[in-house]
Amino acid sequence: MRIILLGPPGVGKGTQAKILVEELGIPQLSTGDILRSAIANKTPLGVQAKAIVDRGDLVSDDIVNGIVSERIDEADCAKGFILDGFPRTIPQADALSAMLADKGLRLDAVVEITADADTLVTRVANRAKESGGARADDTAEVIRKRLEVYKELTEPLVAYYSERGQLRTVDGMVPVDEVTAAIRRALNA
Ligand code: AMP
Repeated sequence: MRIILLGPPGVGKGTQAKILVEELGIPQLSTGDILRSAIANKTPLGVQAKAIVDRGDLVSDDIVNGIVSERIDEADCAKGFILDGFPRTIPQADALSAMLADKGLRLDAVVEITADADTLVTRVANRAKESGGARADDTAEVIRKRLEVYKELTEPLVAYYSERGQLRTVDGMVPVDEVTAAIRRALNA
């Protein structure tokens, strides 16, 4: 199964992706995790991406498209994958569609998780406290920036996938296990 989890920062995409990994036996592909790991390891990609990620902007479409294209060719993605944090722009969605067509693969579903803006700011702020400042992009100022970037560049994907009949929406304001149950229902629908 090939799934996209779509939704703003702090809505619980990562949490739900990790649960679905266990349930479905397919890997989570988080472009954010891949970038953070590159930054921590000071690879050429990490060095290039650090300032952009730290201020809450998006790294270039070409960079993330390349990361995803290479990653889905790996053996553990043969049975499917859960995209978490990609695509984040219309050009990325077009690139994903082209790369899947190229590889003879199809997308099964796009699950949008929703929550109101105040809840998101609180959740990301709590995540920052719990992680002891592990993420430079979890400060109040950068959280606001990331929410703005989401609204402007990523939210248009809701209409994009809805027009293609691929969008299913679940409420992310309920407890974690209820969100998981709603996603399960959405995937079986
Ligand atoms: P995330 O963990 O998904 O919230 O991603 C953290 C940061 O990594 C984002 O704020 C961006 O700077 C960068 N990033 C992750 N995924 C993408 C993407 N698909 N396109 C551009 N930048 C991304």
